[in-house]
Amino acid sequence: MTLAILSDIHANLEALQACIERLSPVADRYLCLGDVVGYGPNPNECCEVIQNLHCVAVVGNHDQAAIGQINPSWFNPLAAAAVRWTQEHLSESSKRWLLGLSEVVMEDAFEAAHGALDYPATGYITDAWSSTPTFDLMKRDLCFVGHTHVAAVYAQAKGHQMVGVQQISSGGSVELKDGFRYILNPGAVGQPRDGIPKASCAAYNTEARVVTIMRVDYPVQITQRKMRDAGLPELLWRRLAVGR
Ligand code: ZN
Repeated sequence: MTLAILSDIHANLEALQACIERLSPVADRYLCLGDVVGYGPNPNECCEVIQNLHCVAVVGNHDQAAIGQINPSWFNPLAAAAVRWTQEHLSESSKRWLLGLSEVVMEDAFEAAHGALDYPATGYITDAWSSTPTFDLMKRDLCFVGHTHVAAVYAQAKGHQMVGVQQISSGGSVELKDGFRYILNPGAVGQPRDGIPKASCAAYNTEARVVTIMRVDYPVQITQRKMRDAGLPELLWRRLAVGR
């Protein structure tokens, strides 16, 4: 079985479609790690595409802000401006769907949250230290998170506290070994922040126990033009071209 993993789509329809095109030949199921909306120009279209994939899905902090569960003043001014734009443009059916998402999912083979298991929608795992609470809370050997917009793998030998960290920005495969526990971040579909403007997504082959991170080209200029025409802040659409 291959699980296709999408995170931090951020209403970027072009990036989402490019990732699905790459993943659909291998995908048996989809997992969505949240932040379907926020920043980008197509929140409703992205909610619809994700719903049609029948994903296992968790809610992200931008999703929660868009439906009034997080105060936008907690965000930086540009993100807050995007939250307000999204609130004004989100359809009732998108809101209803986002409202129904849970913060954490647990299956036989994995757990998932947007940010971290201790603070599911808002916590950041950026290094070995910040991964520890999630490793301590994990009831499975594998947990998927997003939120940082940078693809990475965290590995911990069972019965030990030490955590090894590897960024996987340029894509590639990670073999999950027996005797280890893993936290895996597939990077962001719609707003990469590792200096590479390509969309990032992942595929997990559950028999081979291999996670492959994919970097996918998409027409960045089309998304930028839509954002500019929608009146979204200039810095938010300019950053897409540099992946920051
Ligand atoms: Zn995000």
